[in-house]
Amino acid sequence: MNIDRYNKTLFSFLHSSPTPFHAVDNIEKYLLAKGFNQLQEKEQWQLENAQSYFVSRENGAIIAFTKGEKEHPEDGYRMVAAHTDSPCLLVKPRAGIQTDSYLQLGVEVYGGCLLHPWFDRDLSLAGRVCCEMKDKSLKIFLINFQRPLLTLPSIAIHFNREANTGSTINKQKHLAPILAQSVNEQLPEFEALLSRQVTQEHPNVTIRKILAFDIFCFDSQKPCYTGVQKEIISSARLDNLLSCHVGMTAIGKADKKLNTLLFCANHEENGSSSATGAGGSFLDSVLERIIPDPETRRRSLAQSFLISMDNAHATHPNFLEKQEPEHKIYLNKGPVIKINANQRYATNSLSSALFKKICKKAKISSQEFVMRSDMPCGSTIGPMTAARLGIKTVDVGAASLAMHSIREHTGFSDPFLLYQAIEQFFTSSFHHRLP
Ligand SMILES: [Zn+2]
Repeated sequence: MNIDRYNKTLFSFLHSSPTPFHAVDNIEKYLLAKGFNQLQEKEQWQLENAQSYFVSRENGAIIAFTKGEKEHPEDGYRMVAAHTDSPCLLVKPRAGIQTDSYLQLGVEVYGGCLLHPWFDRDLSLAGRVCCEMKDKSLKIFLINFQRPLLTLPSIAIHFNREANTGSTINKQKHLAPILAQSVNEQLPEFEALLSRQVTQEHPNVTIRKILAFDIFCFDSQKPCYTGVQKEIISSARLDNLLSCHVGMTAIGKADKKLNTLLFCANHEENGSSSATGAGGSFLDSVLERIIPDPETRRRSLAQSFLISMDNAHATHPNFLEKQEPEHKIYLNKGPVIKINANQRYATNSLSSALFKKICKKAKISSQEFVMRSDMPCGSTIGPMTAARLGIKTVDVGAASLAMHSIREHTGFSDPFLLYQAIEQFFTSSFHHRLP
């Protein structure tokens, strides 16, 4: 596969996954097309060797795995992990706010969001709604309005002369986007709009009532290239759908002879402590069902290796002083190994060495990131997964700029270089040579 073709599938995945629910739905469809068998947590599992499976939890997290034809469970699993969520504005339950001639939506800030970039974008809405059906049962539907639907206008500079020097955003007062404006006619009702959208996207169902929803605001602009030679990718949600896409495409192509596993978790941006987050029981519970015997499972975990993927900070040309001077990170220069003395990243010398060997075999270079010693460091799902499972783990990611903005940037070749590393990992037998 060449980089252009790879990026085309990435762009389509990014654009059609405005929420974690849509990301999981798209991963499910991809894996089904690749011959994976769908499992349900509530059913009994009969797993066979040389078969691939996936299971998702509450639309927000998914685990896919192959029970290798040529390997035993105690040979260990090649695991990769990423997260499905991104910082955003989440619509409140009683959403509609009528202000003069406007209908606005009350929103909460989800995760560590950069708020200024949300103003003056062409926003849309997507998410899931829980409906009561005609027979009184509950059903969940995904919806995606797709088209520009909302706007969050800035206050003109004439009313805020400090806008470029030190203005602050009040999360309660300043973030409600405008959904409709009317002078004479009646304003629409938000829930009626949702009902209409459910019927439009799911024409064969008759819902009685929407009882609750998880609706996200997102930027409707498609991913694109920038830079004279198209060397930069700009898109929403590169953190961390870029890595979900790498994991999905790599496990879809992985050798069926080997034990491989992909975990895409929700709620990383607010601490991972949920049923679908990496701090929850999902991965442990699935591993218990793949390898029911506790002794074999522990031996398997001791032989396994986890590559935790989440984007890394590239050096920003306007803020060179923010980066550790001996560890500059460049776009288009290969996956970044993330290291932190206080285990904010799970990388250690052994896991770092293993990843470097994988990159060498894939004929790609890698980079090493550490935060400046006088600045606090972010984290990933790597350390908590390593702690829960006791598994060798490395934290890596594609170099990116403007992390947690509504529009983020990475190198033209960075997603593909990370994919090449993971593709190599999913075909290598490195763990037989562990110290
Ligand atoms: Zn992330």
